[in-house]
Amino acid sequence: MMSLRIAPGSKVRLARFDPADTSAFGGTKAQALRDSQRHLQRLNQLQELLYACHADPVLVILQALDTGGKDGTIRHVFQGLNPQSVKVARFRVPTPIELDHDFLWRVHSEVPGKGEIAIFNRSQYEDVLVPRVRHLVPKTVWTRRYRSINEFERTLALAGTTILKFFLHISSGEQRRRLQERLDDPTKHWKFSPADLEERSRWPLYTPAIEEMLERTSTPWAPWYLVPSDKKWFRNWAVGRILVDALEARQFQWPSLPPGTKVTRIP
Ligand code: AMP
Ligand code: MG
Repeated sequence: MMSLRIAPGSKVRLARFDPADTSAFGGTKAQALRDSQRHLQRLNQLQELLYACHADPVLVILQALDTGGKDGTIRHVFQGLNPQSVKVARFRVPTPIELDHDFLWRVHSEVPGKGEIAIFNRSQYEDVLVPRVRHLVPKTVWTRRYRSINEFERTLALAGTTILKFFLHISSGEQRRRLQERLDDPTKHWKFSPADLEERSRWPLYTPAIEEMLERTSTPWAPWYLVPSDKKWFRNWAVGRILVDALEARQFQWPSLPPGTKVTRIP
């Protein structure tokens, strides 16, 4: 799975990554769905271990353009986890109070504590995308945010947090299809926003903004994974697999009985 990881310091040209590429899996959709079921079971066990050990936290960051699949990824990859130790934070257009603070203020309060997994549906990365593309702040302001973000994530990593960042990469054609579906299907009308069309027209401006974000903030302590996401089954498989691998690497052990426990049979 290392193939989806963006090596720190490397150049990123999104046009070179086919959003429909599933070769990192290499099998059929049916095989991937079976694998994903196994990922769910394993993730459930690993989460219980993380919670039991009160181990250092895990932060999963999901970024994508509209319809990229952040919600679907959360629904599929994290289903079946124990709600007691998972939290999802979603970041919307900043409120006036949030805008009166530094851009990380609202983010820091949502980071996971020991034993927890937090999933960010959008994140601090909105602040180097939307304000740049829409000219909401001067260039001098958004450019220094890369460093602030890297240092912020470094702080979290030094405190023990495992950070995994996923950019869900879809094609313009796939976005058109998904937006059309939201228009056509009454059960999806709630997801449709005319603002999404405005954002869609800015696609050529988002591309370099995303490339620079991936280039400047994929770090050894908080790597980005560029996930081809036109095929939902591949996206779910890839995110699940990367998560399972990252948690397996932590090598949790079940905590033993409290020291001095002498009893072996409950009277
Ligand atoms: P949704 O995720 O569909 O609920 O939409 C949330 C909206 O909030 C998206 O259009 C985001 O681009 C926008 N948003 C989130 N964070 C920021 C931010 N820091 N600055 C500007 N817009 C943001
Ligand atoms: Mg939306």
